[in-house]
Amino acid sequence: MQDKKSSADISIRYIKGVGPKRALVFQKLGIETVSDLFYYLPRRYEDRTNLVRIKDLKPGLEQAVLGKIVKCNIFTAKTGRNILDGVIDDGTGHISAVWYNMPFLRKTLPLGAVIFAFGQVDLFKRLQMTHPSYEIVDENKKDISKIAAIFPVYSLTEDLTQRYLRNTMDTAIHAYLRGMQDPLPTEIRARKKLVDLEFAVKNIHFPQGDEHLARAYHRLVFEEFFILQAMLAIKKKKYFAQGLKHIKDEGLLEEFESLFDFKFTDEQKKCIKEIEDDMASGKAMYRLLQGDVGSGKTVVAMFAMLMSVRSGFQAVMMAPTEILARQHYVTVSKILMPLGVDVRLIVQGIDKNEREVVIETSASGTLDVLIGTHALLGEKIKFKSLGLVVIDEQHKFGVEQRKALRDKNTKAATLVMTATPIPRSLAMTFYGDMDISYLKGKPLGREPVVTYWVGREYREKVYKFVLEELASGRQAFIVYPRIKETDSSDIPSIENMFGELKNGVFKDKNVGMLHGRMVMEEKDKTMKLFKDKKIDVLVATTVVEVGIDVPNATVMIIEHADRYGLAQLHQLRGRIGRGKHTSYCILIGDPKNEISEERLESISGTSDGFEIAEKDLENRGPGEFLGSRQSGLPEIRFGNIIKDYAIMKEAREEAFNLVQADPSLADSRHAGIKACIRERFKGKA
Ligand code: ADP
Ligand code: MG
Repeated sequence: MQDKKSSADISIRYIKGVGPKRALVFQKLGIETVSDLFYYLPRRYEDRTNLVRIKDLKPGLEQAVLGKIVKCNIFTAKTGRNILDGVIDDGTGHISAVWYNMPFLRKTLPLGAVIFAFGQVDLFKRLQMTHPSYEIVDENKKDISKIAAIFPVYSLTEDLTQRYLRNTMDTAIHAYLRGMQDPLPTEIRARKKLVDLEFAVKNIHFPQGDEHLARAYHRLVFEEFFILQAMLAIKKKKYFAQGLKHIKDEGLLEEFESLFDFKFTDEQKKCIKEIEDDMASGKAMYRLLQGDVGSGKTVVAMFAMLMSVRSGFQAVMMAPTEILARQHYVTVSKILMPLGVDVRLIVQGIDKNEREVVIETSASGTLDVLIGTHALLGEKIKFKSLGLVVIDEQHKFGVEQRKALRDKNTKAATLVMTATPIPRSLAMTFYGDMDISYLKGKPLGREPVVTYWVGREYREKVYKFVLEELASGRQAFIVYPRIKETDSSDIPSIENMFGELKNGVFKDKNVGMLHGRMVMEEKDKTMKLFKDKKIDVLVATTVVEVGIDVPNATVMIIEHADRYGLAQLHQLRGRIGRGKHTSYCILIGDPKNEISEERLESISGTSDGFEIAEKDLENRGPGEFLGSRQSGLPEIRFGNIIKDYAIMKEAREEAFNLVQADPSLADSRHAGIKACIRERFKGKA
């Protein structure tokens, strides 16, 4: 159904004073329609209501004055700059308004004119405002309420002035705002005490006061989150509509647990239960399992796979690297094969016969569990009855790869695992269409990694410490931020340092190197040598952050630690502390400022990945936090997912309830929501 065209869909070229040429300029700001213009929020405001008598001006503050131009001179300074100096007198005193290199302004500032000027007041030899905002006041109209107001300040682009944009906004508000449909239903507005769209748009651009502005902003943030959450709710409903029903077997968990030589933690059992309930519900599970490195996610995933197989389906598990896939294969087959489950592996380098067998058995249905890398996504691999898709370390895969796997059977349950703890606020935004299981803590007996940070002058001592650990039979990682040397920086490259260490302090040891530009086989070979203790010291880049278990590695040195995000340091550190010996992570860095110093302190002080993630998110913002791999993130323009978390929670609840009641937004009162979703998430939802 086509919604009725709202006046908001009108191209901005039709606004009086715009036209086709100017419309192109607006396009550079992403403004094409009147509605785009309304939602183009000011970057900040100028409070010009603070009109002060000149004798009462306080230097250092932004204030407004109203007076006559009694003098206006142009001269050239020694520096060659052209200076326009206008003196304003209001009967209580005078102040200079100064403009540099704008001699043409002279025409607009005739002697005797009444001027309203706003800006920061400085006291040099005299009172002065530099480049003030100003209006010439028509002496016959004494009403200056429109001038002495709170003014919006927008981000601009070339060929667009502040003044012009403000005027256009004002014109558009008068001409079109009334006809615009408010996407927020009246009941929700009433329940949440939100102002209506008309009030919000008027006051976000031309606020009548701080209180009005705050209410307008609150409402727009709510609306933004509401639309996003409604989109997610709809997406989620779609997945759910078409699930496979797995069988819940009360005895399965006990049987499964008995296969291990340890007891499951309560947290693991809680997550297993959430997954079990989901899979048995008949709705398609779409769940994120979040747990710190070493929290024991694999066990949970294995249970899900077993449940799927026992229900007569097949399960796959995709890992980001070949070595990780192989490791999972070993773990999973050891547990599940004795139960008669047919487990197989598919990776790039697998031999031809085995590949054929995989293709055949997955199609015929005799294969129960397939583990692999993205080789799983190969076209030839078809499943007879895929029931479950498990994706490990999901942040290493792109959105496309995840989708490709899901597309092999859209009814299959999906379990995505990540060791990057994602703060709740972020999860609610970017994984808002998924359910989340939090696997907290670590199995007993695991000590946290002891973490220190030291300055570069300690490097020799650090090496000595590494040598001591090696002498007790342990192994070490040394991590560098870059592969090659550049002239411009003093940051050591892995290539240089590898040579230096191998021939220097560690000349009696086996030193290996691992970085992202090595071919896959080389990487895997090196990792294997390290695991088999043929390498004592592995000099590496951050490629090691996702890796195999090397319980004997107990030391990690991270050089230039101040260059990494907290979450990444934590992830790296997770490579050690996996065995029975105490592990040490030593961060070498010379933090350039207090913030990075604080960051290094905070990572040394806690081993709780969630706490670290919260801090990291605060420091870096969501985009950087999630990293570049996470394309397709919805853009959040008004709200701040951290500061406005409470609003987001409320918006989510309202949106999910509404979609629950009206999944296709068929109710005419919801047409505005539908239109907004379509507008904001063109092609993405
Ligand atoms: P991650 O969450 O990082 O993927 P793993 O699943 O690889 O963690 O588990 C890390 C290690 O802890 C593995 O060696 C695993 O066998 C072990 N483990 C898992 N659960 C428990 C438990 N309940 N008690 C003791 N050890 C456990
Ligand atoms: Mg894991």
